[in-house]
Amino acid sequence: MDGKRVIGVDLGGTKILAGVVDHDGHVAQRREHPTPTGSQDELLAGLDAAIEELLEDEIAAIGFGLPSPIDQKAGRALQAVNIPLDESVDFRGRMRERFGLPVGIENDANAAAYGEFRFGAARDVESMVMLTLGTGCGGGAVIDGKLFRGWAEFGHMVIVHDGIPCQGTCTGHGHLEPYVTGVAATKLAHAEFGPAVDAHRLVRLAAEGEPRAVEILEGIGRHLGSGIGTLVNIFNPELVVIGGGFAAAGDFVLDPAREVLRREALAQAGDRIPIVRAELGTAAGLIGAGLVAFDAVE
Ligand SMILES: [Zn+2]
Repeated sequence: MDGKRVIGVDLGGTKILAGVVDHDGHVAQRREHPTPTGSQDELLAGLDAAIEELLEDEIAAIGFGLPSPIDQKAGRALQAVNIPLDESVDFRGRMRERFGLPVGIENDANAAAYGEFRFGAARDVESMVMLTLGTGCGGGAVIDGKLFRGWAEFGHMVIVHDGIPCQGTCTGHGHLEPYVTGVAATKLAHAEFGPAVDAHRLVRLAAEGEPRAVEILEGIGRHLGSGIGTLVNIFNPELVVIGGGFAAAGDFVLDPAREVLRREALAQAGDRIPIVRAELGTAAGLIGAGLVAFDAVE
């Protein structure tokens, strides 16, 4: 397949990011469109249009990162939270038929982890787990060089029995997500400093040395460390990568996470497994979708 290129599509709740991806992870003709959220038909038409403007003779396959759990056997997206897409559509089959090309689909956070694994912060290791901290908390894992194709919804692991309610439509309690996202940080910041201080402002206050801001971020980091400890004990990765907008909190959150990891991980794994920030930024999902497309060819 050398020399061939694919189309990667990262479907988000607010925008469709699409581009032509080559074997080295380079993205050409990167395009951004607002996500049509009126109905499933409008959404699919928006995806069709985004792909059509990138189609050329060289294109070997199409890959999608979708914001929902995926049924890989059926090739369908299961109930997405923020967009009108559900299992009533044979998503992979429909796209194959429409464009006459191999099609791969994957959860968007899994795709981002795949991108970071091949071309970002984890390019020198064989096994990694990634958590994305944004509005929600997503996750993905690559084990022995292969993307784990399961749900990998790491944000919904229980870290506190009977803890606070989860975010969005999740009915769970004490899941990792409501403790570690930017939304969680904004909530805590509002309670401490009033409505003018959101997650970004909170990080700035911590950088200026405001002790309560530092403390709040440390609390978030310790919860994150609990979640990472569990992931390390299951997957024994070589590296843990933290991405998403709230990763901007950096060591204010990651240092306490490292401390907790040292305590929770088996066999002193916390001393040898680094927790680092993602490197590809918003391109990770798009590049990962491209990799999913290359996998669909093989
Ligand atoms: Zn949950």
